[in-house]
Amino acid sequence: CGQCTLVCPVGALVEAPAWHAALEVLDSRQHMAVAMVAPATRIAIGEEFGFKPGTISTGRLINALRALGFKQVFDVNFGADVTIMEESAELLGRLMDGRQLPLLTSCCPAWVNWVEINRPDLLVHLSDTRSPQQILGSLTKRGPFARTLAATAGRPTQAFVVGIMPCTAKKDEALRPGMSGDVDLVLTTRELARMIRARDIAFGALDDDGRFDDPLGESTGAGQIFGASGGVMEALVRTASFIVRGDRTLPLEWHQLRGVDEGIKTTDVPGMGRVAVCNGIAVAQRLLQTEGWRTEYVAIEVMACPGGCLGGGGEPKSQDRDILTKRAQAIYTLDGAAPRRRSHENLSVQALYAEAIGEANGVAAQALLHTAYAPRGSARSLLMRFLDAVDRRDA
Ligand code: SF4
Repeated sequence: CGQCTLVCPVGALVEAPAWHAALEVLDSRQHMAVAMVAPATRIAIGEEFGFKPGTISTGRLINALRALGFKQVFDVNFGADVTIMEESAELLGRLMDGRQLPLLTSCCPAWVNWVEINRPDLLVHLSDTRSPQQILGSLTKRGPFARTLAATAGRPTQAFVVGIMPCTAKKDEALRPGMSGDVDLVLTTRELARMIRARDIAFGALDDDGRFDDPLGESTGAGQIFGASGGVMEALVRTASFIVRGDRTLPLEWHQLRGVDEGIKTTDVPGMGRVAVCNGIAVAQRLLQTEGWRTEYVAIEVMACPGGCLGGGGEPKSQDRDILTKRAQAIYTLDGAAPRRRSHENLSVQALYAEAIGEANGVAAQALLHTAYAPRGSARSLLMRFLDAVDRRDA
């Protein structure tokens, strides 16, 4: 993918077509096929079928997935809301300890790969919260919803979880040590479009009334803005600043963190500190070369692709800033229209913590919602990969 080679200095971003395998699984009907839809995919997939850039196709996309044979369709935005719950708890813990600051976001696997390969000294700064894709996968496969899914199927069954992502690096993320098995297959937005065409589904003629399945279909505006550069940080600020101050007096929207143009975006969050957003790994490298980055910021978001995931290597190809801007506008339109716009206000997320997880970043959360990193090429990394390969062989 030309776009990826422009922006990604690691070797993970090669699109390996997987949609034939997905169709085989759907046709075999041996599994409960579950699709999980990323925030940026619902914005861009319409472009594959002649819709104008920025057209929101959520309902039509869900109906297409059901027509393909997926039995459950979940919203990765739910996973994003959980990511924010965990990352906020991590950040607040570090602020109290005064250690391992600034916190570096970790939901972009291309960025994580880059740190493991090039700057292992930064690993202590990386949030160990899983990405929304991997959180939703673990909740579906191993978490409290695995039993619910089996009951829905009416027979003992294993879910086959397919992530629909704007991203080629998410394929690599699903295979990381400790992650394997929670997400069975990752398809890019473009691959899904090919599948839809291969099955002669007239995307444009579908009704736009499809709805995600509950409870993993409920989400907030904060989960939706993960698809844009600055969105992860804005979502983090919305929840972490609320927890710090205990009131809703701080603004909901942080426009200083938005925009698809390359560069460093910063703002001061009262009660929390200064935060930064790097639109691209090259931009992060520039920031990390400055003298004061360790003391100036409490949190830094890094996303590898231009404009964030809405410009991801698995989206309909475009380097056109106008198109990226229209996709971003659509994302913020969805956020503005959402009845709840802070992750901690998601009622299904609240129920998840009350009934199954307990405390954010606590013992159960650590087991299900967090991960670990290691320098690439280190003895520990090689051992983790070997053990993971053995696990997968035995599964
Ligand atoms: Fe994937 Fe988004 Fe990172 Fe691009 S910015 S590599 S699409 S997670």
